[in-house]
Amino acid sequence: MTVASHAPHPSSLTPHAPIGIFGGTFDPIHFGHLRLAEEMAEAIGLERVRFIPAGQPPHRAAPRTAAVHRLEMVRRAVSGNPRFEVDAREVNSPRPSYTVDTLAALRAELGEAQTLWLLMGADAFLGLTGWHEWQRLFELAHIAVAARPGAQLMQSDAMPDLLRHAVSHRQVADGSAAGPAGAVLLCRMTPLDISATAIRDTLSRQGSARYLLPDAVLGYIHEQKLYA
Ligand code: ATP
Repeated sequence: MTVASHAPHPSSLTPHAPIGIFGGTFDPIHFGHLRLAEEMAEAIGLERVRFIPAGQPPHRAAPRTAAVHRLEMVRRAVSGNPRFEVDAREVNSPRPSYTVDTLAALRAELGEAQTLWLLMGADAFLGLTGWHEWQRLFELAHIAVAARPGAQLMQSDAMPDLLRHAVSHRQVADGSAAGPAGAVLLCRMTPLDISATAIRDTLSRQGSARYLLPDAVLGYIHEQKLYA
């Protein structure tokens, strides 16, 4: 595992203060991801958010961009935010990246008392029942879902009954959930209709992606001729 060096020194951290875990392909990372992490950190009171770029995501087609580049883009994007850190374990693993395995490993490292919040967007959450051993996720972490203002996620026709049932007795109104795992929090976030797919498309036709993602990431993309 590699955790970015600008992360706070472990001795400066409050024992068992809640930690956010944010996985994604990050191909490339953009302001939608960064605002989600920042707003959830504030809403829940997360001391740290650990970004974990997927190596080989099992739920979707292989990312277009080599893991080493996606990792570097995440490093550049989070640099300067003392609350954000990067964890390269999935990128460094030769096996498919199952979130449940990553959370189990983090739980083993950080201890049973550590409060963990798995962060995700509503689109990812609606597909949760397709994830490997998805029900075990609730044993390992709380889940915070970034929903748009007014979005009635629970009433959404897109929510499978299995998931609705799992959420119904877990939903909490705020981030002060008791215990280290098991709650579901639907959080509002500033709507930012930015996607990595749209950024890749824009760049592939030599369009401008400026102000959709950090300049440091865009600079790296140009330097490495990614998405051209
Ligand atoms: P792609 O377009 O390649 O599918 P993406 O932009 O959706 O990529 P991912 O890396 O697949 O990015 O997403 C990681 C996580 O970030 C997911 O939980 C997803 O729901 C969330 N997310 C991505 N973009 C946004 C956004 N604009 N607003 C809120 N959440 C987002």
